[in-house]
Amino acid sequence: MVREHYDSWIPRLLGAGATTLMPFGIFYAYPIDRVPHSMRRHESQHVLQYRRMGWPVLRFFAFYATYLWQWASGGFKYLNISLEKEAYAHQNDADWPVTDLPPSP
Ligand SMILES: [Zn+2]
Repeated sequence: MVREHYDSWIPRLLGAGATTLMPFGIFYAYPIDRVPHSMRRHESQHVLQYRRMGWPVLRFFAFYATYLWQWASGGFKYLNISLEKEAYAHQNDADWPVTDLPPSP
């Protein structure tokens, strides 16, 4: 199960409403009752992307190397990152569970 942290300074430092920092969890800038469902779905998608990246120790490096590579090769534009495009594509999916994430494999 992924940990979710609320009212965190970490996303605020990055100028974001939320950020996923695996294996530590999802950090939201808002208190628990103010997190939009679309934001929780978006960050949950990043958790699933992380889990797709292979063995537990290697996936940390694989996920962040992939993210940085996509960012750099996309002209350092956030919206050119394929991992972000996928997360945005799923954030309004009403079928996505918003109260919990599937347990870790
Ligand atoms: Zn994202």
